[in-house]
Amino acid sequence: ALTIGIVGLPNVGKSTLFNALTKNSVLAANYPFATIEPNVGVVNLPDSRLAVLAEIFGSERILPAAVSFVDIAGIVRGASEGEGLGNKFLANIREADAIAQVIRAFSDEDVVHVDGAVNPAGDMETINTELILADLETLEKAQSRFEKEVKGKKLDPSVLTAALAAKEYLNTGKPLSSSGLDLEPIRELGLLTSKPFIYVFNVDEDVLQDETKLAELAALVAPAKAIFLDAKLESELIDLDPEDAAELLASTGQTESGLDQLARVGFDTLGLQTYLTAGPKESRAWTIPKGAKAPQAAGVIHTDFERGFIKAEVISFEDIVATGSVAEARAKGKARMEGKDYVMADGDVVEFRFNV
Ligand code: GDP
Repeated sequence: ALTIGIVGLPNVGKSTLFNALTKNSVLAANYPFATIEPNVGVVNLPDSRLAVLAEIFGSERILPAAVSFVDIAGIVRGASEGEGLGNKFLANIREADAIAQVIRAFSDEDVVHVDGAVNPAGDMETINTELILADLETLEKAQSRFEKEVKGKKLDPSVLTAALAAKEYLNTGKPLSSSGLDLEPIRELGLLTSKPFIYVFNVDEDVLQDETKLAELAALVAPAKAIFLDAKLESELIDLDPEDAAELLASTGQTESGLDQLARVGFDTLGLQTYLTAGPKESRAWTIPKGAKAPQAAGVIHTDFERGFIKAEVISFEDIVATGSVAEARAKGKARMEGKDYVMADGDVVEFRFNV
């Protein structure tokens, strides 16, 4: 399954955010090692189109697409050498598809900062250095294995070449994601700095409306994406009914909660999109990679759909709304029959035809 690992120094608000993510109230204590076990929380990708489809089709339920988040133990300086919770931490993020790094930018004197002062740039530096060191160590270990296997003609030399190039690049102190290297041959190593990154700034509520401050923080991580949220506010929002939550959100100048942003940006960072199906039972969003063709999209529903794919009847969401029904959309020539080379578009409302 698709997962985004949440990382960050201790006491930056990971547990607080994660509690909001799962709606579970796990202990979020003001204590550097409170977060020990990795937990998984699933967040729905907000999609207002589903409610509209459910109305048109009289669907019993709505099933949005989902993104899972794994809360990983806090990283500390020296984590790559196995200090603190390092090794466990590293094993868990290797499996994530992307990494969301939570950075403290809130200013609460009652909450201890592990390095003594709130310093977003310094914290990012600490984490990135640990991740780079961890990748170097992984490559170091792999290298001797690869060398033996290449000598014994059991491994394609391109794998060793890719590993050496990655090592050389990391030694310049930069993450692999900015290297432009072809890392496909060494994908199995799960190198951390090659994963897509999202930066989550945990800010004070008033900062959410301070464009200058937000621009400053965003500049620290550009071209990577930055999200701004107040973890404390998020944990309050989650306990309110939707109307009260919307009101509280609006009072902070926001139209979208931080969790919704996180799901949306996470989805986008992973290169994913959705298509929709609708009927009396359910209106549902299905997750596919951007650029996926119709048979691959059908395969997400069931592997038989991919194997027996004949064609897809596609109506755009806008056309369904404009015509009000599938029958009317067909009558107006808005329903297209697409074949196996059709590249799915976001918001396609689809019915697959297939052989079983
Ligand atoms: P973790 O170690 O990164 O998981 O951090 P926690 O979520 O446990 O947070 C550490 C402390 O900071 C707790 O006392 C939280 O209540 C507090 N905290 C977390 N987020 C915020 C925030 O956005 N604003 C303020 N003022 N305090 C926060």
